[in-house]
Amino acid sequence: MTSHREHSGDVLICGAGVAGPTLAYWLARHGFRPTVVERSEGLRSSGNPVDLRGPALPVVDAMGLRPSLRAAATETTALRLLAASGRPITRVAMPGNSAAGRGEIEIPRNELAAVLVTAAREEAEFLFDDTITALAQDEHGVDVTFARAAPRRFDLVIGADGLHSTVRHLVFGPEDEFVRHAGLYVATMPLGAPADDSREVLIYNTPGRLVSIHPNRGRALVAFIFRGPARADFDHRDVHQHRRLVTEAYADVGWRVPQLLGRLQETEDLYFDSVSQVRLPTWSHGRIALLGDAASCLSLLGDGSSLAIAGAHTLASELAASPADHAAALRRYQSAHSALVEPRQRRLRLSAALLVPRTRAGITARNLAARLSPTPRPTSQNGQRDASVAQQGVAP
Ligand SMILES: Cc1cc2nc3c(=O)[nH]c(=O)nc-3n(C[C@H](O)[C@H](O)[C@H](O)COP(=O)(O)OP(=O)(O)OC[C@H]3O[C@@H](n4cnc5c(N)ncnc54)[C@H](O)[C@@H]3O)c2cc1C
Repeated sequence: MTSHREHSGDVLICGAGVAGPTLAYWLARHGFRPTVVERSEGLRSSGNPVDLRGPALPVVDAMGLRPSLRAAATETTALRLLAASGRPITRVAMPGNSAAGRGEIEIPRNELAAVLVTAAREEAEFLFDDTITALAQDEHGVDVTFARAAPRRFDLVIGADGLHSTVRHLVFGPEDEFVRHAGLYVATMPLGAPADDSREVLIYNTPGRLVSIHPNRGRALVAFIFRGPARADFDHRDVHQHRRLVTEAYADVGWRVPQLLGRLQETEDLYFDSVSQVRLPTWSHGRIALLGDAASCLSLLGDGSSLAIAGAHTLASELAASPADHAAALRRYQSAHSALVEPRQRRLRLSAALLVPRTRAGITARNLAARLSPTPRPTSQNGQRDASVAQQGVAP
């Protein structure tokens, strides 16, 4: 298991989402001693469905996790596009996620995190309900101050703490230097009742707006994704502001939306954020580096979870390859992983245009293309099937 003990070092990972526990697992396998600090008190049991595919699949296979991930996967097999009247018009198959399909796995994000944390827990230390408040590095290590735990010194610190990363803020600078609003906002909440069909995601568009209902294994989720400019007063923690923004954006929308807006006022489980990308010229500074959304968020229209897993594996492999030269390892990690991330970041505009068309004509054209396409989901510029367009946004 821990084959290179002589190379081991103490590594603090901030964040037990997708990237953090994956990195902890692989670092432990390479003989490092990982500690993961997570702000939440524990792992939550529900979440937005995300897709695992491409470069993530060999990594989770090497961790032996495919059966647990399959067991927690959603049962969704199709998307159903609805007309302005609400009438079903096009069924878009999701063969990869069907019982027969093995190409990709759609799974609630927190179930994914739970599987990854369980895999990492045997070999890594986890500190839940805590966070980093200060980092001070010198030539030989990083002194870390926690909100609750006693201060400690580590050889390396990795920020895997998501879009609104504290590590990035402490070490690289304020969020507005690196986080770019992509012209969309997203809100999700539980429907509070099972979906009508346990295998179909419903998608309803009006110009600049999308509403979807995802069956999500009996815990149906509603998503609102809508276009809107960056706002100087936007606060990703202000729930009252979030309710107001969604209500204003959907005030004139029909179908089931009036009822859903009523539920929005009551729900205590509202997720809301600006759809954003993160771009930094360099993902490391001395002994501190960034991983996953903290380094290179793709927005919800990309393969964020898959790339978080792939990036964690790459980072662990590079650190293991030259444990005495972390600077070279971190450079190789960024070089290799950014080659996967950057093309996907450039696809954002196309993905947004297909998922949330600006005009009625755009919606009609998108629906027609979906109906006529032999592989019904929209495809990306490089020809790779782009479930992100049809699936992630509606199944976030
Ligand atoms: C609505 C929505 C839908 C999405 N749909 C998809 C999809 O279909 N497919 C896909 O591939 N990707 C999707 N994504 C993106 C995907 O969820 C992310 O790219 C992925 O979760 C990134 O993993 P991560 O580990 O970098 O960050 P996260 O999963 O965000 O994890 C970060 C962790 O850090 C913790 N944390 C944050 N701050 C601190 C702190 N200061 N101290 C300690 N801990 C902290 C958080 O609690 C969290 O556990 C979606 C995202 C959203 C928001």
